[in-house]
Amino acid sequence: MSDCIFCKILAGEIPSAKVYESGRVAAFLDIGPMEKGHVLVVPKRHWPTLADVPAPLAGEDRAVWDELFDTVRRLAKAALRAGWAGANVLQCNGEAAGQTVGHLHFHVIPRPAGGAVPPAFESGAARYADDAERDAVAAKLRTALADVLRDEGV
Ligand SMILES: [Zn+2]
Repeated sequence: MSDCIFCKILAGEIPSAKVYESGRVAAFLDIGPMEKGHVLVVPKRHWPTLADVPAPLAGEDRAVWDELFDTVRRLAKAALRAGWAGANVLQCNGEAAGQTVGHLHFHVIPRPAGGAVPPAFESGAARYADDAERDAVAAKLRTALADVLRDEGV
């Protein structure tokens, strides 16, 4: 994608503070960090969102996916090893979810002890009106997940 800022970073056309790079995945510091050390983990395939990841995964796509998750896991581990007190992993799909670059990425956000928890992560930030609404939301997700599993032949 010629107009994708992450593809340009991966191609070396835009500079970045790289933390990790292989043939399949790269990780670099976010230019607008939520905390110092905020890293973006990006596949070297232009998959806009999770919904665009090929399914079933096979071959090189599978290898990219596996390394993507391994890199997220290792960076969270590295943040703790480097002395941060915690780490968030965040992934956004679509503008409504706060995705600002249309190239799949995972945020690994190291957190210092005593830091502020972002409001959107606060437990209880949203509440169901009642158990019926809660059950309806769960049913909606179960139905959609069943559709996805059927579509993917699982
Ligand atoms: Zn891209």
